This record gives sequence, structure tokens and C-alpha cells, in this order.
Amino acid sequence: MFIESFKVESPNVKYTDNEIHSVYSYETTELVHENRKGAGYQWIVKPKTVQYEFKTDIHVPKLGVMLVGWGGNNGSTLTGGVIANRDYTSVMIEFMFFGLKYTSDMASSIRVGSFNGEEIYAPFKSLLPMVNPDDIVFGGWDISNMNLADAMARAKVLDIDLQKQLRPYMEHMVPLPGIYDPDFIAANQDSRANNIIKGTKKEQVEQVIKDIREFKAKNKVDKVVVLWTGNTERYSNVVAGLNDTMDNFLAALERNESEISPSTLYALACVLENVPFINGSPQNTFVPGLIDLAIKRNSLIGGDDFKSGQTKMKSVLVDFLVGAGIKPTSIVSYNHLGNNDGMNLSAPQTFRSKEISKSNVVDDMVASNGILYEPGEHPDHVVVIKYVPYVGDSKRAMDEYTSEIFMGGKNTIVMHNTCEDSLLAAPIILDLVLLAELSTRIQLKAEDEEKFHSFHPVAAILSYLTKAPLVAPGTPVVNALSKQRAMLENILRACVGLAPENNMILEYK
Ligand code: NAD
Repeated sequence: MFIESFKVESPNVKYTDNEIHSVYSYETTELVHENRKGAGYQWIVKPKTVQYEFKTDIHVPKLGVMLVGWGGNNGSTLTGGVIANRDYTSVMIEFMFFGLKYTSDMASSIRVGSFNGEEIYAPFKSLLPMVNPDDIVFGGWDISNMNLADAMARAKVLDIDLQKQLRPYMEHMVPLPGIYDPDFIAANQDSRANNIIKGTKKEQVEQVIKDIREFKAKNKVDKVVVLWTGNTERYSNVVAGLNDTMDNFLAALERNESEISPSTLYALACVLENVPFINGSPQNTFVPGLIDLAIKRNSLIGGDDFKSGQTKMKSVLVDFLVGAGIKPTSIVSYNHLGNNDGMNLSAPQTFRSKEISKSNVVDDMVASNGILYEPGEHPDHVVVIKYVPYVGDSKRAMDEYTSEIFMGGKNTIVMHNTCEDSLLAAPIILDLVLLAELSTRIQLKAEDEEKFHSFHPVAAILSYLTKAPLVAPGTPVVNALSKQRAMLENILRACVGLAPENNMILEYK
């Protein structure tokens, strides 16, 4: 059975006019590697309980979202999609997803318990007060000055009838000039770049800060989240003395060093302005010096690269195979796509960024099973991306998984996935900004800490939605989708004093 909302009644949870306060027992384990007399070294596992308190500010702000690359396929599809869901006319309604508003987490459910022998589910978004996507004000930058209505037509993603309905809403939306550096994206993007912020790198950062402030004031929004959905850039070189520490990075900005990428400049502006910044593309926007600065300023950064299609499937399938004792030995992924992203990725340097972000996704799952894999052993894993203009935004992903099974047998699974790329990415963008905003309203404190604090500024909580999760230095990277989802869901449950979903259903055993 599905219920719309619920309230937790517990001595551990208090709802006030301003916040939800919960006291939560975090059950975990402590590991010790001990030399026991006669038995040699042995791992000892000690169950451990840590008391936490969570405070969630329940005042939902008016939110502004500024997209870098607003006029691209993702930016125009998301903007049009949100308008269609908000101000739908009879024609627009045909295109609404299952009559439900939006997709992905916002349309997913969580189990809240059992009632009369039936499982009861509620919307994911009913866990904590979240911004309603209808109320978001969109804006942003693009190196192309095309208005959003024309950008939507250029993208050829939304149905033509829907585009006609949306045009009046979108033709007055024109992206702000963007930071352009042809060294970082493919040369084939040059003809698009007619809307550019001039000046030194430092001046460009100052302009972005000014843009954010003006957007905030003009639209009377309480908070802004910035998200990069611009072209994939090449990797920046990480060099000692240039971008390895905060001080070196800031000094490099003063020297106008050429190796600071546009995406890093936008991110820097956001960190200086304490505005959350999320990177939806694979490049290493977050160079160590910038991460250092974000941590010092406690400013949220999250990324990298939307986990939309092929990789999402991979982080489910490989987790299942390895978890079932089946040993993937060869994973080969082919993609072809014909949108502007595909054209940009046809340059070797930008393709390399995508190749890296798609490559590490099975690492944690492989490392989790030392029965199947020797230390250091890894399946062959190859990723190919080709630009085929004819297919437009309709990306084709073909994967072949070969595994070793019982008695030395071989198993091959082949998948062919066809989907409009931007229709996968747009709801992920929405979820990323909503979760990033929500996470800035949560404070926590462990029993040995004196003061409440926010989550670590490197927002690993967003990793469910990203292909190459950015985590704080020294933190494990989790790629398996079910674990990422459980992490997110259980943290939000903890904020309302609910135990993690353990699926034991012991009451019926
Ligand atoms: P797109 O090429 O249609 O849009 C990118 C936009 O960014 C363009 O309008 C371009 O003019 C603009 N741009 C480039 N550099 C800029 C800069 N420095 N400042 C401001 N604007 C800039 O691409 P898309 O299909 O919308 O994808 C956007 C990004 O999202 C790509 O990097 C892609 O790899 C990534 N991504 C997409 C998906 C998906 O499923 N669609 C999944 C994962 C990652």
C-alpha cells in the first residue's frame, strides 16, 4: 500500500516550528587486527554503537538553480520539462511522466513498515521537507547566446508539439556570457562560442560571483545551487606548486595560469561565495587546491559526472554478479551518440575524461570479493564512445559482460540500451540540486562532539547520482548503486529517527 505522508512519534524525535531534531543510535563495527597468543594475527570485529543527533531546518528556501551550459541539451530539456510539469496545458499534460511530477528519487518510494500484513510505502520526498521543483527559478551561463527556446529546438529532444507550447515561456530566457577557454574543450565547439566573459581568470571569477549575486537579488531567491552541465573538458594537469594546495592554487589564479580550467573557475567562484557547486561532467574540476579551499570554507562541492545510463546499469549488474559469486572477467561498453556532447567527446582529450570516469566504477565491487579475485586482479574493462550525428540525442549503449561461472563455464550477457540522453540526465540534475540544498539544512553531532556541524563539504551523499563519486580525502568510494541508495535513504531516515531499512521483516519470521 502507498501512503502520501507520515509523521514519526518517538521519544527520540522532536518536531518544532523550526526543525526536526532526532537522536539516533548508529550501529557499526570496530575492527582490530590483534596478535593473539598461539593463534597468530586475527581480525576481531566489535559491534559498536555511537549516539548521533541530527537537526534538520524545516524552512524550505526559495531556490535558484544556475546551470553552467544552460543552453545545452540537458539545460534546455530540464528547463522545458520543469515548465511543462508546472504550468502544463492540455497539450503539455500528455508528456508528463506517468502523470507523476518528475522522475528518479522524487518519484521513488521508501518502505516505512508493515500494517495488517501489508508493506507500506511512502514517497521518498516525504522523508524530509524538500524544495518543490515547481518553485525553482532557473538561470545560468552558456558560451552560446542562443535563447532557451531556440536551444530546445536545436537539441531536438522534446516533442515538437510540446516545444511549440513551451516556446513563449522560454524565448526570453538568455544565458549569461560564460567562461570560454578553447584549450579545454574540443575545437569543434568554437563556432558556438559567441557569449564570452572577457578578462583575466581572476576577473572571470569575479564576474561569476557578481552574476550569482545579481541573479539572487533579481529573482528574490534565498539560496542558489550551481551545477556544471557544460561540455566535458579535458583533464587539468595536477602539478605541484600550481593547484596541489589551496595557497598554490590561489597564487596560480593571481598569476593567471593557463592550466586552470573554466569549470574550476566557476567552482572557485561558488566556493568563495559559499554556494553549493556540483559537477555533472567527468573532468577533474575539483583539483586538490580547490578541494582544500572548499573544506576550509565549508562550502559544498559534489560530483563527478551524472550517473545516467550505462554506468548506472553497470553499478547494478556487476554488484549483482560479484555478489552472486559470478566472476565478471571482461566488460566491454560501446556507446554512440549524435548530440553536441558526442561531437565534443570525439576529441581524444575530452574522451579521455569520460573514459576515466566510466572506468573505475566496478573497482569497489571487484575488491569486495577476494574469493573470486586475487589481490590486484581486475576484469578487462574497455569503454568506446563514437560520434554518429544521425542518432542525435538518442544514445545507444551496448555492453557485453563475460563471466566465469560454475565448473569453469562462461556466461555472456549482452545489453542494448537506447534512450534520449538528456531525458536521463535532466531528472538527475533536479535530484542533485534538491539533495544538495537539503543537505545544507542538516546538522549532525556524534556523542563525542561538542557542537553540531554540517556534513563534510565534499558531498559524498550525492554519490548515488554520480558516475565517479567525489569523496573527501581518505574516504572509501562506493560505486554499487544499491549501497549508494541505501546510504542516502538511511541517512535521511536517521534525520527523522527511523532505523535503517534492513529488510529483515522479522515480525513475520
Ligand atoms: P551539450 O553540448 O548539449 O551542452 C553543453 C553546453 O555547455 C553547450 O550549450 C555549450 O555551449 C555550453 N558550454 C561549454 N563550455 C561552457 C563554459 N565554459 N561555460 C558555459 N557554458 C559552456 O551537452 P549535454 O548533452 O547537455 O551534456 C552536458 C554535459 O553533461 C556533458 O559534459 C556530458 O558529458 C555530461 N553528461 C551527460 C549525461 C547525459 O545522460 N546526458 C550523462 C553524464 C554526463
